[in-house]
Amino acid sequence: MPGSPIHLLKTLYGYDAFRGKQAEIIDHVITGNNAFVLMPTGGGKSLCYQIPALVRPGMGLVVSPLIALMEDQVTALRQAGVKAAALNSRLSATQKDRLWREMADGAIDLLYMAPETLLKPDTLDRLQGVRLSLIAIDEAHCLSQWGHDFRPEYRALANLIPHFPNVPRLALTATADAPTRTEIVEHLAIGAGNSFIDGFDRPNIRYGVAEKTSLSQQMLKFLHPRKGESGIIYCLSKKKTEDVAATLNNHGFTALPYHAGMEMQARAENQRRFQHEQGLIMVATIAFGMGIDKPDVRFVLHADLPGSIEAYYQETGRAGRDGLPSETLMLYGAEDIALRRRFIDTSDAPDARKRMEHRKLDALLGFTETCQCRRQALLSYFGDACSPCGNCDNCFEPPDSFDGTIAVQKLLSTLHRTGQRFGQAHVIAVLLGEADERICRLGHDKLSTFAIGKEHDRNQWRSITRQLVAHGLIDVDVTGHGGLAISEKGRQFLRNKETIQLRTLKKVNPARAKARAEKPDALPASDRALFEKLRVKRLELAKAQNVPPYVIFHDKTLSEMASRKPLTRTELADIPGIGEAKMARYGDAFLKVIGEDETET
Ligand code: ADP
Ligand code: ZN
Repeated sequence: MPGSPIHLLKTLYGYDAFRGKQAEIIDHVITGNNAFVLMPTGGGKSLCYQIPALVRPGMGLVVSPLIALMEDQVTALRQAGVKAAALNSRLSATQKDRLWREMADGAIDLLYMAPETLLKPDTLDRLQGVRLSLIAIDEAHCLSQWGHDFRPEYRALANLIPHFPNVPRLALTATADAPTRTEIVEHLAIGAGNSFIDGFDRPNIRYGVAEKTSLSQQMLKFLHPRKGESGIIYCLSKKKTEDVAATLNNHGFTALPYHAGMEMQARAENQRRFQHEQGLIMVATIAFGMGIDKPDVRFVLHADLPGSIEAYYQETGRAGRDGLPSETLMLYGAEDIALRRRFIDTSDAPDARKRMEHRKLDALLGFTETCQCRRQALLSYFGDACSPCGNCDNCFEPPDSFDGTIAVQKLLSTLHRTGQRFGQAHVIAVLLGEADERICRLGHDKLSTFAIGKEHDRNQWRSITRQLVAHGLIDVDVTGHGGLAISEKGRQFLRNKETIQLRTLKKVNPARAKARAEKPDALPASDRALFEKLRVKRLELAKAQNVPPYVIFHDKTLSEMASRKPLTRTELADIPGIGEAKMARYGDAFLKVIGEDETET
């Protein structure tokens, strides 16, 4: 397909300008270079390989981990007029043969495949007869052995290199941490100077975290103003997904469970409904994850504590891929923490891995209790920065805090006097003055810090300890039994007589929480009715073709239509997200809805 990148951007996708590093990456790859691309979800990674694949001669080969994911992309590309296809086990032998013939004839622009299919000797053999423009490896973090999406087949992708030495390789991911990045670049021999890292911020996502007091009540309160919107609720156990879905259905929501214990078919059907219908809530374990690139997920609610900051970032990141305001809420309680710890301890992972997971859990707990802007805390974890965002619970309503200086001094001093080798439970028992057998045997009841911490209860001391771990004043001995020690920063704190504000551990104040419950809305009420009519039209067109509604137009495009109310094709073409193919297919149908609405009002 001829055309410059910017021309393709307009005619195929209906957009006027590239975002972030897109243009730079696209040029880099068109010239024939490899690239590692790290962009947040919704950042626009797909264009970074789709456009070069169309500009360069030959067919673009895209490696994607899941059939559902590739079929979705293929459907969306075909709607935009691109000759895309997926080679997977769902095709019959005849269909496969036909597809191979089309490839050899140069009739396919983009081909999607899972790594298992690609690495079969037969596939590699037949691909030698097809000219390739590039190889894009999507969700490249799946090759990382430390990551939570590890797939052994992804590691084997390194074997591709000798087969296609001159074809540019792109590895793309939204997963953030530095070791994973390095691992990908090295493993796929992407080469120095080929990394493009585009920040981690998701400005349209609002973050909120609250202590779990009553799950059902808190959940219903959060969901009530969001009725009719699509969202995901993450639960820790299979049974809980079923229970929560049942509760929601009883309260007039449409909710579906999703977990690895369900029959394949029931799972696939629930996923299909989530993608094809509007306003469904998926109540899922983390088994529901990578396969979803539904752009209009408006909220993600964690009914239980996630496992790490990475997992939290990735799970909340499934909201608002279309860039529209989206909201997240994490509810966590003491039992969740205990359960998470038990999960880690009873897993059959090697000890080094268990220690790492405990540390990651501690970092997440620090995040839940921070007084800082949530976005700042989240980004700083990934080595990125921002100013206070004005779009998180801590920015809306600065949490109650207290001068924790004395508490820190007492805690650090107790650590010092007990030899910096005991865990949290023991240290807190000393602070509270609990003269049990062990404490007496060790003589810790004779220490000057014994019973000096009675102004806080056990839970408060735990919270203080976690916050100090999060602030880096205390090190957790990860090679031993979780013993606490004063870090270099902690010693400085004592030496320099620094002060510190800590978050007060408290239940959520319902009156204040109200402000938070109001949902962000992109559209004024006056345009809302037209937006809903456009959604109905879209659903009707989608059903007729058995495709998800968002492959026709994203909510963002409909929302622009509702506020700008274009009446001619020329005006309509100005709205982002309407390329030539979609204009030809759907332009008139949507203009009609807008025209009728105008005459009514
Ligand atoms: P990612 O794969 O990084 O999560 P996508 O490639 O799916 O992101 O893009 C996210 C959304 O942003 C899609 O709706 C896409 O059409 C849109 N998008 C991508 N690039 C642009 C751009 N330059 N201008 C406007 N919208 C864009
Ligand atoms: Zn903030």
